[in-house]
Amino acid sequence: MPTKVDLYEILGVGRDASSEELKRVYRKLARQYHPDVSNEPDSAERFKEINLAYEVLSDPQKRQQYDMFGRAGVSGAGGAGGAQDPFGQAGFGGFSDIFDAFFGGAMGGQQRRARAQAGSDLRYDLRITFAEAVLGTEKEIEFPVLGRCDPCQGTGAKQGSAPVQCPQCQGRGEIRQVRQTMLGQMVNVTACPRCRGEGRVVDSPCDACRGEGRTERKRSLRVSIPAGIDEGHQVRLTNEGEVGPRNGPPGSLYVAVHIAEHPHLTREGTELYYEAEISIAQAALGTKIAVPMVEGEPVEVDIKPGTQPGTEIKLRGKGVPHLRRQNARGDLHVIATVVVPSKLSKKQRELLEQYAKESGETVSGAGLREKLGL
Ligand SMILES: [Zn+2]
Ligand SMILES: [Zn+2]
Repeated sequence: MPTKVDLYEILGVGRDASSEELKRVYRKLARQYHPDVSNEPDSAERFKEINLAYEVLSDPQKRQQYDMFGRAGVSGAGGAGGAQDPFGQAGFGGFSDIFDAFFGGAMGGQQRRARAQAGSDLRYDLRITFAEAVLGTEKEIEFPVLGRCDPCQGTGAKQGSAPVQCPQCQGRGEIRQVRQTMLGQMVNVTACPRCRGEGRVVDSPCDACRGEGRTERKRSLRVSIPAGIDEGHQVRLTNEGEVGPRNGPPGSLYVAVHIAEHPHLTREGTELYYEAEISIAQAALGTKIAVPMVEGEPVEVDIKPGTQPGTEIKLRGKGVPHLRRQNARGDLHVIATVVVPSKLSKKQRELLEQYAKESGETVSGAGLREKLGL
């Protein structure tokens, strides 16, 4: 278990570090702490930490999931608080397996121990409103999940009996084959096919789960959706996925967030955009417009006389909160779009023609015919 919990801290980089920076820092640290070269007593542990941190942060998807931590958690029934523990059994466990595979033998003959199979990760698609995404929300979700079988308490064995040591691997969960080759002794280790690596087998299976140790049930959870979450983000709830067979460690639940569109506002990350349609007269003479907000009443905004098409008025801090920086919010950009009328009343036409004449402009219609001597 890493001594420093924050992966960015382990590598000593900022949360916005680029992948090039990560790679550079990782190489430097890996050279420094590699157990073969470093004399420091805890170098092996550090080396493992560094590798774990890099393993997660160099993978965009894992990094995004990691970044979600601390921002989102779970409360209520079964809320194991897994969100605090990014090194939970499932999920990021992949690295230690790779690590053991590479260094296990070389670093003192650690053995692959019998282990229970982990449960699968689950994905839940959650639809939320535009405002909920900007302001954050809590949602009650209900989903079917494989949970621990009650009658056998997850062991898979009939009541009154218990799982027994696997006779094929003597409980080791693995089968070792040793061969002598020209290069020396080669050891081939595979998971025991009889117990699938668990080390134990069930002789008389539980009736409720047929020896699986898990049954399907409905679970409901409260999920905190952090303010500023964006389309496609996932909130990871550690240990809330399927439980593994026969008390195997549970997987994670990923809540994938889908955000409804706003009738007037569009969003890009932390920035909001509002297209304000104004007339030619309003652009020229100035006006006040009402700009809709994500929360609360519309805000009155001044359009200055002589506003050009595409002019941007920035309402600072009226955008979307930053996911990783508390109290920091993006801006709301009001873009003035000047709409040219496609139909004119008789009076409007006369006034515009008068305006053109005053400006010495040539326009279609009566004035033009006159001017061109038609
Ligand atoms: Zn076995
Ligand atoms: Zn059972």
